Amino acid sequence: MAGPSTPARGKLREILLRFGRALPMDTGMSPRSPVPACAPAAAPGWSAERLAAQLDVLENQRDRDVEEVLAEGVALQRAAEAIPDPALARRAELLQADMLDRLGETQRAVRMLWAVHGWAAERDCRPVLARSHLLLSRTHHNLGDMSACLEHAVSAVEYLGEDAPPDRRAHYVAKLADALGWAGSFDAARERYRQAERLAVAAGNPERQIMVLNNLAYTEYEAGEFNAAWTVVERMFAFRDRTGREFDGNDLDTISRIQLALGRHADAEKTVLQAIATYGHMRNREADCMAEYLLTLATARRGLGALYGAQASLDHSLALCEERALGDVRVRVLQEQAELYAAAGDYRRAFATYKAFHRAEEAQRSAQQEAQARTRQAIFETTEARQHAERFREQARTDPLTGLPNRRYVDEELPFVLARAEAAGVPVTVALADLDHFKRINDTLSHDVGDRVLATVGELLRAGLRTDGFVARLGGEEFLVVLPGLGASQAEYRLDVLRNGIRAHDWVPLTGELPVTVSIGAVCLAPGDRAGQAELLGAADHNLYAAKRCGRDRVVADTFVVR
Ligand code: GH3
Ligand code: MG
Ligand code: MG
Repeated sequence: MAGPSTPARGKLREILLRFGRALPMDTGMSPRSPVPACAPAAAPGWSAERLAAQLDVLENQRDRDVEEVLAEGVALQRAAEAIPDPALARRAELLQADMLDRLGETQRAVRMLWAVHGWAAERDCRPVLARSHLLLSRTHHNLGDMSACLEHAVSAVEYLGEDAPPDRRAHYVAKLADALGWAGSFDAARERYRQAERLAVAAGNPERQIMVLNNLAYTEYEAGEFNAAWTVVERMFAFRDRTGREFDGNDLDTISRIQLALGRHADAEKTVLQAIATYGHMRNREADCMAEYLLTLATARRGLGALYGAQASLDHSLALCEERALGDVRVRVLQEQAELYAAAGDYRRAFATYKAFHRAEEAQRSAQQEAQARTRQAIFETTEARQHAERFREQARTDPLTGLPNRRYVDEELPFVLARAEAAGVPVTVALADLDHFKRINDTLSHDVGDRVLATVGELLRAGLRTDGFVARLGGEEFLVVLPGLGASQAEYRLDVLRNGIRAHDWVPLTGELPVTVSIGAVCLAPGDRAGQAELLGAADHNLYAAKRCGRDRVVADTFVVR
């Protein structure tokens, strides 16, 4: 079977690998052709443009060694973190997840993929979302969940958008077509293949064109439209003659399968023998390719009545399946074996093998379900970890004594409040509240009482706010109050209510004779005016000291003058 490129084959390879069997990328059947690495590892100091271009190349290259690309992904991520360019770093992580998945490390791949996906969803980072959806689509296909596969493929194309380069769009649209075909929506698939082909032509990418044709032919075959499939194959031949681009093993296996379906067994045998001959030169071959080709060969030979040759080919295929734990191919090998016994008139063994085939199919299905459950678990764990990180972030931005936001929160949040107010054309008031003679409370009573006073003042400010904005503890006995949307006099009034609330609170149980009051210095930034956080806090501090100088327990506020 040479279905829609990578994901169609080795559907269960990853799943079986989870049970601890290693996947050699090389079959050892023929020496691997030494192909030099065509891209240098990314170095720190690369510009964002250069990193993006290199990612473009690696994301689309089919003809590369998986482990080499994985190492490149790590180097690219480091270089992107050094810039720093978080979106590029996430893209480099997706490249790694892609390669890990191809190496059979599904759980690690899914965790990485899902973490990056969450990161991108939070920021609506569309280029990263497009790619994470594309990879999630493949993962779900590998796990046998075709509806999730289709859902992600649709989102991938949506997030990619119309303005992406034609070659990338061709790739994404072709994957969507594959997903539609797997889900049984053949008409929609055909339409998308046509679109992908037009885009591949526009991009001038013959590799992509032939891949689209191969996948379309295979989809027609799956749809049972063997003549339509053959029409596409004829276009593949015409394309080859025109461009001189030779078929690879997958193309040839597709063609052979279609010839088989049309009853052209001799042609099918010839074609699949070419696929087998091609295999040694393929760089992106997957472990199950050869087992697939040998299975096709067995079927062709059975059709020709060459039962010994068919059996030899099937034995060879089965040996590869056992060696490499290719569960799904093995199931179909058993099916073919049953047919072969039947063709030889050995109905007793044919029947026994059919039963073995059904048992193996059942086992495959439950392995697949188990893998789906494990993936869901990995996704769940990643989500948990993200929520944990979120809680940690929350903690880091909260003052433990008062439960109020702290200075770190202020540094992150205040610029947004200012920008929003400026954009909305509303005023915003920034006020500093400092306890009066607080040292006296600490010294005469205790530090512990001082702490409780601080917590109570924080609570009184927070509860008395009654508007948008926020109260934070900047440190020591100093609080920040931010009031957006109120005019200068309204804000001053509101601050005076807060001040008075603190003075009027019943402090006797806590501090006895000692009063607790605050002085407040505030500035109001007029609608549409722009000022930085530091300037505003400086002006508020200036007014705070004026309030202290004038006798404390009061509000001093004015309008910020933009210079
Ligand atoms: P003023 O009216 O001029 O503001 O006088 P003050 O005594 O409030 O000001 P000063 O800056 O001299 O003293 C602030 C004191 O606040 C000093 C420090 O020990 C105390 N302080 C700072 N952080 C904490 C805290 O977390 N808990 C307690 N209990 N005291 C704190
Ligand atoms: Mg003070
Ligand atoms: Mg102070």
